[in-house]
Amino acid sequence: MRQKSEKRMEVEIDKDSGFCFGVVTAIESAEKELRQTGTLYCLGDIVHNSLEVERLQRLGLQTVNHEGFSLLHGEKVLLRAHGEPPSTYAVARENNISVIDATCPVVLRLQRKIHKCYEETRHNRTQLVIYGKRGHAEVNGLVGQTEGTAIVIEKPDDLDKLDFARDITLFSQTTKSLDGFRRIVEEIYRRIRETNAAIQFDYFDTICRQVANRLPNIKAFASRHDCIYFVAGEKSSNGRMLFEECLKANPRSVFISEAKEITEPLPPEVRNAGVCGATSTPKWLMEEVAARICKMNN
Ligand code: SF4
Repeated sequence: MRQKSEKRMEVEIDKDSGFCFGVVTAIESAEKELRQTGTLYCLGDIVHNSLEVERLQRLGLQTVNHEGFSLLHGEKVLLRAHGEPPSTYAVARENNISVIDATCPVVLRLQRKIHKCYEETRHNRTQLVIYGKRGHAEVNGLVGQTEGTAIVIEKPDDLDKLDFARDITLFSQTTKSLDGFRRIVEEIYRRIRETNAAIQFDYFDTICRQVANRLPNIKAFASRHDCIYFVAGEKSSNGRMLFEECLKANPRSVFISEAKEITEPLPPEVRNAGVCGATSTPKWLMEEVAARICKMNN
């Protein structure tokens, strides 16, 4: 989509930015229920974007944390795309909570894979390792498949936690970068060689291509504009990661969370601007930002 101002400032919204199908499905499930009943709980923010959360709140969605969830009885609760550990389903059963399960199918497949691997290898003390962000909802759901035993690795240095005398199986959180995952794999191999360990090391690239494919796209998009407004919520780790890539491709990239953060016109040498965002950024928000850029530069 292109919008032109009188100053002939061109603004393009990246058509590949915005919600991934996991988030779209979760939001559609919430909207459907809200249309029918006008009320629904969601365990955790349905998407890491406060403006979209507020929009759904106005329709009747109430966000609860795990503590609030455990106090509910007989209510209907949506589980978002990130997925949940088995303990959440146990609480729902105990408290007669009916669950609308919007766990993304890609995450669900990964949860099952990790659970199967845990069941098959627990007898030989294989270390199940997850490359991901500690405490992230998806990672908590994955660790829950191993009765809390999986080791979470955020960076190569964290590999100090592993015992290189025991077998290792590595998975990744779906939203991590492929480069980061490759670095972890290489470092594990390096340490195995260094210690001369006769252990089995298996790894599974479980990174979601909805996210991974955005990296090359967003780099190309950022480099063909004079400046970039990257729109995402502060809490979005995917947003931070994609923004870093924009910044590398175009130093004139700015991270914003909403249109009103744009308070000044662009310098005269800037003839075109690109608007892009994370998998948690709503299209309507990027459109608002594009409209604001046009308005400010008229
Ligand atoms: S990023 Fe991929 S795995 Fe995660 S919710 Fe979106 S589609 Fe599903």
